[in-house]
Order: sequence, then structure tokens, then C-alpha cells
Amino acid sequence: MRIAVLVKEIPDATVRKRLDPRSGRLERSGERTLNPHDAHAIEAAVRLRETPSAAVEEIVAVTMGPASASRALHRAVSLGADRSVHLCDDAFAGSDLIATAQALAAALERIEPDLVLAGQQSDDGECYALGAAVGEYLHWPALTQVVALELRDGRVRCARQAEYGYDTVELELPALVGVGDALNEPRYPSLKAIMGARNRPLETLTAADLGIALDQVGAAGSRARWVGVKQPARRPQATMIEDRDAEETVARIIAWLDERRVI
Ligand SMILES: Cc1cc2nc3c(=O)[nH]c(=O)nc-3n(C[C@H](O)[C@H](O)[C@H](O)COP(=O)(O)OP(=O)(O)OC[C@H]3O[C@@H](n4cnc5c(N)ncnc54)[C@H](O)[C@@H]3O)c2cc1C
Repeated sequence: MRIAVLVKEIPDATVRKRLDPRSGRLERSGERTLNPHDAHAIEAAVRLRETPSAAVEEIVAVTMGPASASRALHRAVSLGADRSVHLCDDAFAGSDLIATAQALAAALERIEPDLVLAGQQSDDGECYALGAAVGEYLHWPALTQVVALELRDGRVRCARQAEYGYDTVELELPALVGVGDALNEPRYPSLKAIMGARNRPLETLTAADLGIALDQVGAAGSRARWVGVKQPARRPQATMIEDRDAEETVARIIAWLDERRVI
């Protein structure tokens, strides 16, 4: 059994996010890091490998991104992946979600995993949709927001979080599963794993390697366009009630709500 995990490099959470007014794209200079939601997908793959009945032989981390994204792959390997694949080509720059999904699906066809795991969202784009789009391109069953999973008899049995509780869904392999953060608590990599990650195999693939026509990816292959950017409207200033004495604070909150006929 081979598991591929989709991972993304994103701007560090401490970096103020900014859109480039000329291209309308997210300005991606500055510190970058592995998307934290993807650590849950790697942890899920590692836990399946630790389950002997799952017979996981290999975990492959896969990303599409600029040259710097190899650091996110090193991080993924230090967290437990055996090797990584980097879709890196100027032709990919400016790809929207659908073009990104198409390129990743082409790479996955080449890697031939039995199971693909993705995070629930990226902390920069936050589309929550890439996994479903990749599944569609592969013509595989795909499920998102999975908070428990188990491999058995060529199937993956998942608990999926919904507004009303949990759905239990079984998918026939090969399949794609987007994991929710509640699935697990990712472990920290050891110093040895961090040091060793750079020496693990890393394959770099271009659009030509994947047989993707240049008008299918990048800005040329993307139908999504940024048409404008503006600041959100300023909200009226909040009323701050300092909590010095609980009874007095409660009374002031009730009076404030009463004044506005909320209660
Ligand atoms: C017009 C336009 C131009 C863009 N230009 C660029 C650009 O130049 N450079 C750029 O980096 N992005 C660019 N993007 C953003 C990029 O297309 C999105 O990151 C991608 O479509 C996925 O959406 P998301 O990050 O919101 O993923 P979500 O759907 O929120 O992510 C879910 C999961 O999918 C996986 N995933 C997401 N992205 C990747 C990836 N790239 N590789 C592997 N796994 C992934 C992760 O497991 C993640 O947890 C552009 C988007 C648009 C609309």
C-alpha cells in the first residue's frame, strides 16, 4: 500500500498577508512554512503505517509550488514521509484551484498511490476544495472533513464530521481523503529526523514531465481572475467592558444589551 500526502507551503502565520496590487495574487515573499493542517494528513499516514494490518509500504509527500516549497517537503519528510515529489515549473505560477488540481492529479497518476490524504484547508487560500477537485480529475471517490479512518479489505472506512453528527462512509481504494484537524494531534519531529530529511529522495517534475500542455496550467490555464481588491468596511468601535468585579460586569453587560433591546 502506498499513501500520497498533499502538502502546501504557505506564508508563515506571523507574516502580514498582502495581495500584490499588480497581479492580484498573494504576495509570497518572506518566511514560509508547511501548511499546519497538512501535518494532520501526514500524521494520519504515519499512524496507518504503524498499524501492521494496513501494510503501508511507502508515504510520499507531494506539493506544487515554487522552488522554496522544497522546504515544506523536507518538513513533511521529517514528520514521517519516506520521499517527496515537487511539481516545480514557472509554467505553474498563477494556477487557480482547478489548474492546481489538474497538475497534482497528473503527478498522482504517475506516483500510483492507493490512498491520497490532504489537509482540510490551506491557511492562505482557504478554498477547502482542492482535495475534491483532485478526486474528480482522478475519477476516484473523495471525502472531506474525515475525523477517523481505518483501512480494511481494500477499503477505507471513514467518520465524516457533519453539522448533525457523524456520517460513516466506506470508500473503495484508490480514494482521496481530506482529513479534519480533529483526526489527530501531529507529533513533533525528532532532531535526527529534521537533519535526515534533506537526504531523502526528492523528485522534481515539470509540466512537460507530466505531459501537461502549457495552456492547461498557470495563468493561461486558469479561469479564476482577481477583478478587484478593497479593504473591508470599518466597523464602529467596540464597547469594552473591563471585568473588575464579576457582578458589576454582568450588570453592565445586561444594561448594554437591554438598552439595545437585544434582551
Ligand atoms: C487566479 C489565481 C492565481 C493563483 N496564483 C498562485 C501562484 O502563483 N502561486 C501559488 O502558490 N498559488 C497561487 N494561487 C493559489 C492556488 O491556486 C491555491 O493555493 C490552490 O488552488 C489550492 O487552493 P487552496 O490553497 O485554497 O487549497 P485548499 O482547498 O484550502 O487546500 C486543501 C488541501 O489541499 C492541499 N493543497 C492545496 N494546495 C496545494 C498545493 N499547491 N500542492 C499540494 N497540495 C495542496 C493541502 O493538503 C491542503 O490542506 C492562485 C489562485 C488563483 C485563484
